[in-house]
Amino acid sequence: MKTVYLDYNATTPTNKDVLIEMLPYFDYHFGNPSSIHTLGQKCTHAIDDARLRISRLISANPDEIIFTGSGTEANNLALLGTAFSKMHKGSHIISTQIEHSSVYETCKMLEKHEITISFVSPDDNGTINPREIESKITDKTFLISVMTANNETGAIQNIKEISKIAGNNSIIMHTDAVQAAGKMPLNVNELDVDLLTLSAHKIYGPKGVGALYVKRGIRLSPLIFGGGQEKKIRAGTENVPGIVGFGKAAEITAQNLNENILHYTRIRDYFEDLILSKIKTASINSENTMRVPNTSNISFNEQENEKLLVKLDLKGICVSSGSACGASSREPSRILKSMNLPSSKLYGSIRFSFGLNTTFEDINYTISVLEKILNK
Ligand code: PLP
Repeated sequence: MKTVYLDYNATTPTNKDVLIEMLPYFDYHFGNPSSIHTLGQKCTHAIDDARLRISRLISANPDEIIFTGSGTEANNLALLGTAFSKMHKGSHIISTQIEHSSVYETCKMLEKHEITISFVSPDDNGTINPREIESKITDKTFLISVMTANNETGAIQNIKEISKIAGNNSIIMHTDAVQAAGKMPLNVNELDVDLLTLSAHKIYGPKGVGALYVKRGIRLSPLIFGGGQEKKIRAGTENVPGIVGFGKAAEITAQNLNENILHYTRIRDYFEDLILSKIKTASINSENTMRVPNTSNISFNEQENEKLLVKLDLKGICVSSGSACGASSREPSRILKSMNLPSSKLYGSIRFSFGLNTTFEDINYTISVLEKILNK
């Protein structure tokens, strides 16, 4: 049976050139980067090289990149690392209802420790109004965390404007750019953020490695204690093959960005035109706002998404109803809920996310299967 993978926001396959670059670091160059000898130093240099490549993807300085074990960990480090160095009773963070669970649940945990959190709601298109953020600022606010692009809808947020508001009020600004990387240009100087999260496996790199951009001068408390790795911010022997792969993936991503954006846009536009013309009940969520070009979140009225997901899977089509982390939950998406979708659309929404390997034939096949299921 044909397999059509349209779940690239959940994860991407590791690029072959990335894999080739990683392989020697599993055996031939197996040293511990903390060792003084040649084998160890070979790995230190490989990590430094990866740091440089990743810094270039976001126009940062290499010493501003801290490697972590995932995007989730980088988000935890951004929030908890800031909180532990600034926290006092009654202090305040502003975030949003549409954040990935690695930000949202971290905020929820901090709430239990007497940190007040304001979760700003999006409009019906899934966008956060910077003025809403501004209206929540108090003299206790020490951090604002708003994602660059949403994982379920693709909606792009006005980070530049929100950073300006944060800067004017001497508040630290964090953005989770995990779903933005490789789908839109990212420049930490233009965005004017203090902290920015990346994850390798969303840009055709390996799973289990992430990074946090930490602007020079921003102080974070570590969450993991031990050796002095990663400037004493993230202890633990480095995942050298993973970091090397992340570096290569970042380099390839930066090189091909414009070409890839064009490919995503062509595929996404073709898909959306076709689905709207063939499926009467289909509507696009976040249709009237800027989105990353690879994501289409579609509601099918009164069709329970779980049943639809299974029917599509039986035909070899891999999609999801929202974030991969919430995939086993029967609850409707927190993100779509916060956008005030009617319940018929809430339960019948599917995220289609396209990748570099997606073809027009994949789209034709997917729509023909959907037609058979839904237009019965
Ligand atoms: N942030 C966003 C927006 C994501 O979509 C994800 C993963 O789906 C993460 C963070 C977490 O990244 P990781 O899978 O590397 O933990």
